Amino acid sequence: MNKLREIPKIDKIIKNDIFKNLNIKLLTQITKQQIEKLREDILQNRVQKVDNLKLLKEIEEAYKEIFKPSLKPLINATGVILHTNMGRSLISKELLKRAQPLICNYSNLEYNLKDGCRGERYEHVSSHLKNLLGVEDILVVNNNASAVFLVLNTFAKDAEVIVSRGELVEIGGSFRIPEVMSQSGAILKEVGATNKTKLSDYKASINENSAMLMKVHQSNFSIEGFSESTPYKNIKELSRQENLIDYYDLGSGYIPILPYNLSKKEASLIDILKLNPSLISFSGDKLFGSVQAGIIAGKKELIEKLKHNQLLRMLRVDKITLSLLEETIKAYLKEEYELIPTLQMLFTTTDELEKRALHVEAQIGKEYCEVQQSKTVMGGGTLPNREFPSIALHIKGKAQQLEREFRAKLTIGRIENDRFLLDFRTIMQKDEELLIQIIKEVLL
Ligand SMILES: *Cc1c(COP(=O)(O)O)cnc(C)c1O
Repeated sequence: MNKLREIPKIDKIIKNDIFKNLNIKLLTQITKQQIEKLREDILQNRVQKVDNLKLLKEIEEAYKEIFKPSLKPLINATGVILHTNMGRSLISKELLKRAQPLICNYSNLEYNLKDGCRGERYEHVSSHLKNLLGVEDILVVNNNASAVFLVLNTFAKDAEVIVSRGELVEIGGSFRIPEVMSQSGAILKEVGATNKTKLSDYKASINENSAMLMKVHQSNFSIEGFSESTPYKNIKELSRQENLIDYYDLGSGYIPILPYNLSKKEASLIDILKLNPSLISFSGDKLFGSVQAGIIAGKKELIEKLKHNQLLRMLRVDKITLSLLEETIKAYLKEEYELIPTLQMLFTTTDELEKRALHVEAQIGKEYCEVQQSKTVMGGGTLPNREFPSIALHIKGKAQQLEREFRAKLTIGRIENDRFLLDFRTIMQKDEELLIQIIKEVLL
């Protein structure tokens, strides 16, 4: 096997000029792997001759491959603002900038500056949130799924939680109310029917082992037609009479009145909190428009009990989350909604979107594309079946093929009636010139 002897030595390879700026340790490791592969190819008779230049190129490629990012920024041209597969809510550069000193420095995260002793991690964000929401107390955990789990585990372990059969929902594939319930140790007591649950159904199932009346937002579907659900207000009142805890898993919570009449069938956080609930929880990165987090709000003595559950240690949030959440809440207090991208995209008028779409159309030419009216939805399991207007650029040509070609260039559009559309509701203004470039590359 003379050919094996033709393989250059590792020491010699890594000294080659083309590798001079690379990390030696990593380069040595990759070179060993590539040589091993070459040996194998020689032994299997897959290689007739050792090609030094080819070997060097392969090592260089393998090195570069390691540093190719797996997470990549995309242009979301689907029109769906809270796209679960694309990261839900975005954080604006301005809020990131404001949070940065707290992320890059030591801070009083858990240090009481007044007394020079250990402080409370949740205090910082909770005082702002209490101001914003006007509630007694607040707790922030990793996401809303953990909020639900913590609440059930703390107040309903081995006890019954009464929930309507119309609200036993699955959210995003891995979160199912009945399963979360059983894992938390709570006992699910289903009442009513899929399409109808009355207050009397809740009332009839209360017994000495009942701990809680729970309402779950249906989130990603709606029941139309012959249907009836009990308003939270009545569930709350019944809980009070029966001395039970009421808990509303809202999924998504929002503050300002939403455009396009979207607030009509969907109570705001402020409306719900006016009813004085024992506990509610919602996601930080759905309509609230901040980081991934689960926000629990309600009665002080109940939040206090949640804080004493050992589980909290496992569900607790990092300073990065807390700092960004705090900046979002401060922006809410100052009504700087333009700094919250989820709201900013939702509140942009169709006139503004049309102006931007027409600009792109003019750059590309009407023979290739055309601006059209479109409709979109919020996404992320919020505001189910509630469409609202948007503006899209129809790219003329074979829809399936265009979808693939744009996707290869990290631009995700949608196909509707056999047309490939780029929806301007979610295209960020800063990406417009890049988008024009990409459209030209695909079409011209
Ligand atoms: C989205 C949602 C959840 C899960 O929230 P995450 O923040 O994704 O963990 C739980 N309950 C309801 C009703 C929801 O809509």
